[in-house]
Amino acid sequence: MTEPTPQATTTDRPVITRTPRELREALTGAGRTALVPTMGALHEGHCSLMRLAREQADTVVVSIFVNPLQFGPDEDLDRYPRDLATDTEICAKEGVDVIFAPEERTMYPTEQMITVEAGSMGRRLEGASRPGHFTGVLTVVAKLFHLVRPDLAVFGAKDVQQLFLVRRMVVDLNFPVEIVSAPILRDHDGLASSSRNVYLTPEERVGALSLSRALRVGADAALDGARAVRVAARAVMDAAAEADPPVALDHLALVDPATFDDVPDDHEGEAILAVAAHVGTTRLIDNVLVTIP
Ligand code: AMP
Repeated sequence: MTEPTPQATTTDRPVITRTPRELREALTGAGRTALVPTMGALHEGHCSLMRLAREQADTVVVSIFVNPLQFGPDEDLDRYPRDLATDTEICAKEGVDVIFAPEERTMYPTEQMITVEAGSMGRRLEGASRPGHFTGVLTVVAKLFHLVRPDLAVFGAKDVQQLFLVRRMVVDLNFPVEIVSAPILRDHDGLASSSRNVYLTPEERVGALSLSRALRVGADAALDGARAVRVAARAVMDAAAEADPPVALDHLALVDPATFDDVPDDHEGEAILAVAAHVGTTRLIDNVLVTIP
């Protein structure tokens, strides 16, 4: 009997690159390239984006960069989880070819003088709660597009306003990249997977389920119109505000997917029911697309 041939190992993938030059070298002859921009602390939600990318490209690049430009002064930039070793293992399992994990000084060697402004839509909803957030997001995404030069880039519907604004930036600024969206991935209990979920104590995690519950209850009321959606979802968040630990509502809004303006009570058609809330020191967001007949 002959010995089985050892399987070729794939330990050379992903290639970890830290600078634009290393990135360009790793992408020589890459063919159709997909980019998945992330801030690391990778979870199943990110993996679903990588799988979509893998299906559609010869080379998959995951960027891992906790972008200071998109954090407000009182936000969690310093404590945001960072673990490149674990992230690399996850990327290897998902068949990622290249990780681009630049240092802050590589991405921002000098103060960023020129930025990409998100316009009025970037000041609504998440932008209203987090001034400057979307300028930071669009600026880093534009830089990553220039550095990686992907044919397509995958973004999650969890950050629905970000997804919309990136699509809009690509159109308005003529970026030659196709934007692919991935549906929201949820943990077994319904909580939207998020790098920030690791901050939650077990008790806070139970409280955090009020966000997805409010969206479910709201969506279930869609047959009765926009007002009913808002009232039903609000009742869940009001109850959660009284619970222990309390869930402090930041915003709960039913908005037009094309403008992120609140829809009127007699709205018909699609709307996004979006929620943001603090549970303890953790800020969480979630959304669902509802169709009002
Ligand atoms: P982040 O690392 O949180 O900046 O997220 C990187 C990308 O992953 C963004 O496009 C997010 O929308 C997406 N993402 C994060 N969590 C989820 C999730 N639970 N489901 C789908 N996409 C997600």
